[in-house]
Order: sequence, then C-alpha cells, then structure tokens
Amino acid sequence: METVDVVVVGAGPTGLMLAGELALGGVSVEVVEREPVPSGQSRGGGVNQRTAEVLAMRGLLAAVLGRAVPRTSSGGHFAGLPVPLDVTPWRTRHPDGIVVPQDRLEEILQARVREQGVEVRRGAGLTGLVQDADGVTAELAGGARVRSRFLVACDGGHSTVRRLVGADFPGKVARWPR
Ligand SMILES: Cc1cc2nc3c(=O)[nH]c(=O)nc-3n(C[C@H](O)[C@H](O)[C@H](O)COP(=O)(O)OP(=O)(O)OC[C@H]3O[C@@H](n4cnc5c(N)ncnc54)[C@H](O)[C@@H]3O)c2cc1C
Repeated sequence: METVDVVVVGAGPTGLMLAGELALGGVSVEVVEREPVPSGQSRGGGVNQRTAEVLAMRGLLAAVLGRAVPRTSSGGHFAGLPVPLDVTPWRTRHPDGIVVPQDRLEEILQARVREQGVEVRRGAGLTGLVQDADGVTAELAGGARVRSRFLVACDGGHSTVRRLVGADFPGKVARWPR
C-alpha cells in the first residue's frame, strides 16, 4: 500500500493550495479527487485582495493575471452579505481583486503541485477511511488504498470525510437570493 505524510481529499482550490503549501514545506502529499477530469465549471468568479497577495507571495500571480478577465471598478462583497464594501482605503497592490473563473485558478494550482511532484489522483473518490493511533487508511473508488499520517478534508460542502467521521455541520444553509 502506498504511504505518504498527508492525503488531501478534493482537488478544488482549497485542496490544491494546501497540497502546494505542504509540498513547499517538504511534506509528502497526495491529492485524491473524485472527478476523472476537471469539470470546466466555475462557481467562484474571482479572488479577493488578500488572496491576490498570497498568490503573489507564491509566484503564482502572473499566471493568474494572464488568465484573468480585465476589470476596472473597485468594490465588491464579502460572502454575499449585503454590505457595501469600499476597498479604496486598503493598503494593497490589488485593490480591485482579480476576476478569474475558478476552473482557471484550479488549472494553475494543479499545474503547480504537479511541478512539485505531487500526485493528483483523479477518478479516485474517497469511499471509506479507517483511523488508528498512527494514522489513516483511505479507501478509494476502484479499491485502491493509501496510508497517511494525516488526511485532510477539502472535499467541499457535501464532504464525504465529514460524513465518514460523523462530524456535524452546524449553522444554516446559505440561500441566494435571500
Ligand atoms: C452556487 C454557488 C455559487 C458560488 N459563487 C461564488 C462566487 O461567485 N464567487 C466566489 O468566490 N465563490 C463562489 N462560490 C464558492 C466557491 O465555489 C467555493 O468557495 C469553492 O469552490 C470552495 O473550494 P473548495 O476547494 O473548498 O471546495 P470545492 O470547490 O467544492 O472542491 C471540492 C472538491 O472535492 C471533490 N470531492 C468531493 N467529494 C469527494 C470525495 N469523496 N473524494 C474525492 N474528492 C471529492 C470535488 O469533486 C471537488 O473537486 C459559490 C459556491 C456555490 C455552491
């Protein structure tokens, strides 16, 4: 059975960014993703100011800007809340945020982790997991298993990991429009 330090479940923006950061820190990591190919769909339409700064810190901003949609206006919202957000006083190099569809950002992040030697195993949805004192054994669709010290749930709002470990999801389901 294959063994790594960390298994990241889900190759969305959260999982891919985390995998890249772990690899940067010298941690062996594997990403397992249910979908055999990227969906090509985008729920997220852009990144905010602080995310742009983080992407710049990691040398990823040029690639993101190269695939961004031109934008001139400033402002925005936070988590869809009906609060006018004037970002002009913020001391940031990226006051407007960046309009970049989520699938393009995921392509950039996936290319980065693959360059770092991280395997992104697609068509390998997590179906089960067994925890013991030393770590976790992940069971994947198709029957493969991966052993790791840690397993991180980056598998979205309907998280399989959360269901498997019996973790609660307190709070209210978001509705749009309100
Ligand atoms: C309707 C809607 C509209 C939105 N609009 C916006 C917007 O306008 N702007 C914005 O910034 N954000 C928007 N968002 C939020 C944005 O899409 C999320 O913040 C973002 O997708 C979260 O990234 P993530 O990596 O945490 O999860 P996800 O993008 O959900 O990625 C989770 C990944 O895990 C994989 N996965 C799931 N189960 C398993 C499993 N069992 N095994 C292996 N892999 C698995 C999935 O295939 C997926 O690739 C919207 C979200 C929704 C639902």
